[in-house]
Amino acid sequence: MSGTNQSCDPPNKNGNTMLNGKTKIAYFSMEIGLKSEIPTYSGGLGVLAGDTIRAAADLNLPMVAISLVSRKGYFRQRLTPEGQQIEESDSWEPSQYMDMLPAEITVPLYGRAVKVKAWQYDVVNPAGRSVPALLLDTDVEGNLPSDRAITNYLYGGDMRYRLEQEVVLGIGGVRILDALGYRIRRYHMNEGHSALLALELLKKNGLDHNKVRDMCVFTTHTPVEAAFDKFPYMLFDEVLPGYIPQSELRALSGGDGFLNMAKLALNLSSYVNGVTKRHSEQSQAIFPGYRIKAITNGIHSYTWTCECFRNLYDKYITGWAIEPSLLVRASVIPDEELVEAHRGAKKTLIDYVNSTTGAAMDYETLTIGFARRATGYKRANMIFSDIDRLRSIASGGKIQLVYAGKAHPRDEPGKAMIREIFRYARELRDEIKIVYLEGYNMDLALKIISGVDLWLNTPQPPMEASGTSGMKAAHNGVVNFSVLDGWWIEGWMEGITGWAIGPPPDLKLSDQERRRRELRDLYNKLEYIIVPMFYDRKDEWHRIMTNSIEKVASYFNSHRMMSNYVMEAYL
Ligand SMILES: *Cc1c(COP(=O)(O)O)cnc(C)c1O
Repeated sequence: MSGTNQSCDPPNKNGNTMLNGKTKIAYFSMEIGLKSEIPTYSGGLGVLAGDTIRAAADLNLPMVAISLVSRKGYFRQRLTPEGQQIEESDSWEPSQYMDMLPAEITVPLYGRAVKVKAWQYDVVNPAGRSVPALLLDTDVEGNLPSDRAITNYLYGGDMRYRLEQEVVLGIGGVRILDALGYRIRRYHMNEGHSALLALELLKKNGLDHNKVRDMCVFTTHTPVEAAFDKFPYMLFDEVLPGYIPQSELRALSGGDGFLNMAKLALNLSSYVNGVTKRHSEQSQAIFPGYRIKAITNGIHSYTWTCECFRNLYDKYITGWAIEPSLLVRASVIPDEELVEAHRGAKKTLIDYVNSTTGAAMDYETLTIGFARRATGYKRANMIFSDIDRLRSIASGGKIQLVYAGKAHPRDEPGKAMIREIFRYARELRDEIKIVYLEGYNMDLALKIISGVDLWLNTPQPPMEASGTSGMKAAHNGVVNFSVLDGWWIEGWMEGITGWAIGPPPDLKLSDQERRRRELRDLYNKLEYIIVPMFYDRKDEWHRIMTNSIEKVASYFNSHRMMSNYVMEAYL
């Protein structure tokens, strides 16, 4: 917070000076990827929130982010030699990175007042512009021990714990912004976790729905009904007794015995969007009667470009970091320098792999990357569906594979998938080098997405609402090879920006037939197109690398995404 804000707004009712008086947009997210060492994120949703705020700083948007401090993080992942995931607490010390603000508010829980404070982390861009992120914390003197633990674990605990966290995030978030003198005109809910903010606004505005709707924006991130946060009304009434008239709440958030956070957000937002064009259509089908727009995700270009490519872009595409659409000029980069930059990024990764695993991977071999949350629908094991075919494609040491990713502590199938990959790695160890790196986080993500040659993505359609790691790969000249789902439907130009695995999503096929075609493409394109081009037709391969920057990175970035939000949702 600086004192240079030239606000003309009068002091608010708490008498605070209006240091924050110009801030108009509050961005609420359960998780936020501020930087690798701050473990307040678990995956794509949190990284997107961080990228949103980083882009807001670049674009000088009057924004503030609200999230939870998650003092014990998500978890730190260790993997045994058998691929058994061991979860360790990822405690961190907020005071090492940020300041505790003096303001203190309370939220109602079980009829008592639980104190909430906030840490402020300033996301500062290279030009010195900044956007604050406020991380809410209930570890406050005077709170009961159990209340002090509410903001400890990201996605930890049971349904009751989650609801308590969402009370702190949604209701606490609105109250802390008021206490700090922010004047918010738009409340953006990044996923339904923060939807209780809309109830708090309703109470503040005499239950005037239209007034609240005018202020709220909701972005949904999942294509499946079952994934939305739902709480039994009985639990809600116990946690927040008398907070809002029961009839009011039930009318707003679904009448089937559950408080559906997505429904609540939908009913109290004037602008709602999905995160790709396809995902907005799916959401429209899940929620008939609502208007669901599309704003396709993007990633923060500077954050997700490795050192070697930053230097390259600095040399040939002046201003790219602030205006990543300029990457459309990528053809001006000479092939030799493109190759040299990639060689540097690949060396960084391979050296890291070799020093941490002893795998003795090779610098010249076609290296395929797969790193993302380890959960069933992402199908990390798909390439092993036909082991003999994979063996024959890779024969003579033609490919090597780098994996990483955490499974949620309660996701047993996700954990089993990690063990399965370890088994294949062992079985194939004399023919294909395969490593699974532990401790996936933002730093490791950047190393992998920039250091491999080919980015493999095999989600089960239509489960991947967007996906963003392929956009990161493209920013580093890494070529996408992906199932047609999420963002790739929009980024894919066959043989130009990469290749598709399987048929377009709108083709009506049985699951079995779809899978058959996916496997056919996966193996055939690897064997007959990708491997030969990588080794023997280098010029064509370099063209696809350049196209990835020129046609993918120039569009699938958070600056383009944020200008969409400004024009469609915030203004
Ligand atoms: C980008 C990123 C993700 C998202 O990856 P997807 O392949 O889009 O699911 C998840 N985790 C981390 C750490 C990331 O950087």
